Amino acid sequence: MVLVEVTRRRQILVGLPALLIGAGATAACDAPRPGLVPERGPRGPRRSARTATVDRDPVGALDDVDPAVRWAFAEDGFAPLPEAGPGDWLHAHAESPQSFATFTIEGPNRPTAERRTLLVARLGWGDAARASATSTTPTMDEIVAYLGAFFTLPVATIDVQLDRAALEPRTQDGREQLRTTAILDALEPQVPDHAYAMLAVTPDDLYPGPEWNFVFGMARLHRRVGVFSLARYGEGDAAVQRGLAVLSHEAGHMFGISHCVHYACLMNGFNSREELDRTPMHLCRVCLRKLHAVVGFDPGTRYRAVRERLVAAGVREEVAWIEGRLAGVRG
Ligand SMILES: [Zn+2]
Ligand SMILES: [Zn+2]
Repeated sequence: MVLVEVTRRRQILVGLPALLIGAGATAACDAPRPGLVPERGPRGPRRSARTATVDRDPVGALDDVDPAVRWAFAEDGFAPLPEAGPGDWLHAHAESPQSFATFTIEGPNRPTAERRTLLVARLGWGDAARASATSTTPTMDEIVAYLGAFFTLPVATIDVQLDRAALEPRTQDGREQLRTTAILDALEPQVPDHAYAMLAVTPDDLYPGPEWNFVFGMARLHRRVGVFSLARYGEGDAAVQRGLAVLSHEAGHMFGISHCVHYACLMNGFNSREELDRTPMHLCRVCLRKLHAVVGFDPGTRYRAVRERLVAAGVREEVAWIEGRLAGVRG
């Protein structure tokens, strides 16, 4: 799901085959990352030997990592990426692996003392008619609390008004949709200086381009914006779980993390609600190391904070995974 856009407007929809899954399914999307590394000045990136090394070990050497937290990036406890079946994301989209070294070279956005708030922008949130027509879970309180635990940055909310007519509304399957790319274009100039990044959440259904039937969300890797929709999650605890998964997946993209092809991982692309339900809510060791390199945190403290939110949301399977992870750690 989830369309990732690569920086500098190297648009991601390019070359995407039309991806329309059969009845009832939901096609979502994503963005292949064609060239991977953005230009970095006249001499360009140096990738040769280093890149070759990381491709064999995408998490990279851990010599520079504090010995007290290395356990979090060790191999144990992470499931392999399942084989993609027909209709699954990787069946339809080729993804270029983003190793930890590649991630570093690409230059993720890094928080500073002045720029470290993760902003959640309510978009169309006050429109009761539209909101009541869709799922209303997770709640804004759950969204804020989960983002804070997962990304370990301060989280705040903001209301954003955009000209709806400029968001390329269209009607699909009887419901109105807004175009993600138009939303992100409109959001970019509105990101406040103090925001690390701004993630819009909307009750509206979304589409990224004419060839798609819908998308759960979309984010730009290096431009501090993302958007996700609450329209497609159903009801009850499962809806909360799906919403939190998509929320954290999209936010993960804003930290520079591309789709993961290394393990079963929150950052795997997903193409349908069924595939979303099979996707873990945790980051694999490669993606966790990326997040750790950007924000820094104690992995045990972070796992406990996320577990607390998941217990509150009734997401049992993921709580069990975290407890297994913590049980293997001393202290
Ligand atoms: Zn994605
Ligand atoms: Zn991963």
